[in-house]
Amino acid sequence: MEQDRISVVIPVYNEEQGLEELFRQLLPVMEGMSRSYEIVLVDDGSTDASLEILRRHAGEKVRVVELTRNYGQHAAVFAGFESSDGGIVVTLDADLQNPPREIPRLVAAMEEGDYEVVGTIRMGRQDTLFRRIASRAVNAMARKITGVKLNDWGCMLRAYRREVVEHMVNSRERSTFIPALATTFAKRIAEIEVGHNERFAGESKYSLLKLVSLQFDLLTSFSEFPLKLMLYLGFFMAFFGMGFGAFLAVARLYFGAHWAAQGVFTLFAVLFFFMGAQFLAFGLMGEYVGRIYREVKSRPSYTVRRIY
Ligand code: UDP
Ligand code: MG
Repeated sequence: MEQDRISVVIPVYNEEQGLEELFRQLLPVMEGMSRSYEIVLVDDGSTDASLEILRRHAGEKVRVVELTRNYGQHAAVFAGFESSDGGIVVTLDADLQNPPREIPRLVAAMEEGDYEVVGTIRMGRQDTLFRRIASRAVNAMARKITGVKLNDWGCMLRAYRREVVEHMVNSRERSTFIPALATTFAKRIAEIEVGHNERFAGESKYSLLKLVSLQFDLLTSFSEFPLKLMLYLGFFMAFFGMGFGAFLAVARLYFGAHWAAQGVFTLFAVLFFFMGAQFLAFGLMGEYVGRIYREVKSRPSYTVRRIY
């Protein structure tokens, strides 16, 4: 690792129309910082001319990693992490929605505040209304799940310290949401405001289905709440069944056998109780599955920042 070097990691999936412009904007910015840098572009199984364009630019400062097929943005970024070695790693989208000229500010913010992760808040966001609403939901959920009060989780223009990147790479998780994972290994986290543009060319690579699946990744990799839900539901139903049964017994004594409709309602009460008990059992099993899941993810249970 080179402490002073900056690695820029960029996932690329069918971005042939915008890549030349990306290099045109990014290279001067990196040269202008007058420090050691590398740019790692990960071709995420593009089916257009992206790879050829990338390979034309490959060289001393530009590394191109070709994946065998399309694995998705976050997996591609992971691949980039693994073949980068800068002390500070910046992730960036290839479509120029995040302006490369913000990189120096991002790095400056990180170094001035000695932060481990610096995120960004997109000002004047140029996305469809639907995407903006969806982002709000994601942000609220991510805040709740991780307990970290960041404003904008979706923007991939972010800077990470090498240590945080190493912890992420060593976690070996299959599907994950990088900005959220990073916060589990960092305490000193900041956000700065950055500009946002429309896509330079082409279309968003995220279909509705892919967005939903990313959502699901976020929920299931960082929370065991869905598993716990069964436990809660079980408790609730069992208690409801018992309460209902008690109510029926009292009402039966009070209003007589005729009111109780030959025990039909008693049957319901018993049913609710047993259904509740079943959910409880599922929930308990879910608890164990959750523990297994946590083991399998093999996230370190702690990470040391420094020893004095
Ligand atoms: N991307 C990728 N693999 C995918 C989908 C997207 O590497 O399967 C890259 C894409 O080339 C771009 C970045 O991830 O550099 C963000 O994608 P996009 O701009 O389509 O997402 P949006 O801005 O709509 O959220
Ligand atoms: Mg984009």
